[in-house]
Amino acid sequence: MRDVPLREGMVRNVSVKQVKTVLRDAGFPDNQAPLRFIIMALKLGDQVVLIDTGTGGHPIYGEGNGRLFESMAAAAGLDPKAVKTILISHLHGDHIYGLMNNESDAQVFPDADIVVPAAELKWWTRPGVESIDLGPTRKGIARRIQATVATWKNVRTFEGEPELLPGVHAVRAPGPSPGMVAHLVTSGVEQFLISADVVNLAPHISTNPEWQLSIDQDPRMAVDTRRKIFDRAVTDKLTISGTHWLMPNVGTLAKDGSRYVFVAEG
Ligand SMILES: [Zn+2]
Repeated sequence: MRDVPLREGMVRNVSVKQVKTVLRDAGFPDNQAPLRFIIMALKLGDQVVLIDTGTGGHPIYGEGNGRLFESMAAAAGLDPKAVKTILISHLHGDHIYGLMNNESDAQVFPDADIVVPAAELKWWTRPGVESIDLGPTRKGIARRIQATVATWKNVRTFEGEPELLPGVHAVRAPGPSPGMVAHLVTSGVEQFLISADVVNLAPHISTNPEWQLSIDQDPRMAVDTRRKIFDRAVTDKLTISGTHWLMPNVGTLAKDGSRYVFVAEG
């Protein structure tokens, strides 16, 4: 977890004063936005599947993160060695640096299948991408992807919205990163959408879906994706969560005019 200091321009089309008002109204301190880094794990038969891998404790994300292995064991009773498949939503550091050692870049899960959207890998390996300024938290990331994920033999890519594993479909969600996907998990009649960074601040901020967050690589596209995905969540009564949502972070969405109201489950 990490609290991100508020600054002007963080939400491109809204003043920092309005952001502070929303934070205060939701009962939060108004000087920083609370951000969480949450990794979902699925049990499919006897295999454990991870959806993204977090920050790997990379110093760029500050203190208080990079505890995937301890959290798996202590909080969820999961053995990291049982991870056979890792589904990646997009190639931002806070989702993939957990795949690699911070010093050596060596694989943390060399025996797992790593499943990456083809559009993401293509974008991050295209000529000249490393010279695009994507802000301080993404410094050097294209080169690191090119030296790691792009060369690993246990990585497979996919196009579109296939069924990646039994009952787990990719759902296109571009904007936060050009080829991002969410993951829709179905079990019987129940459907759970793991929405990655469709909104990468907390649910109380998702109640303003038109906010263009500067952390999104294409903020306007991210707004379109957010509306599309959230409308689907309302219509199909999906259970939904996201990587950076606050606890309790699993629930449903309802529509209230142009806003979405998050109702936590349990
Ligand atoms: Zn993220």
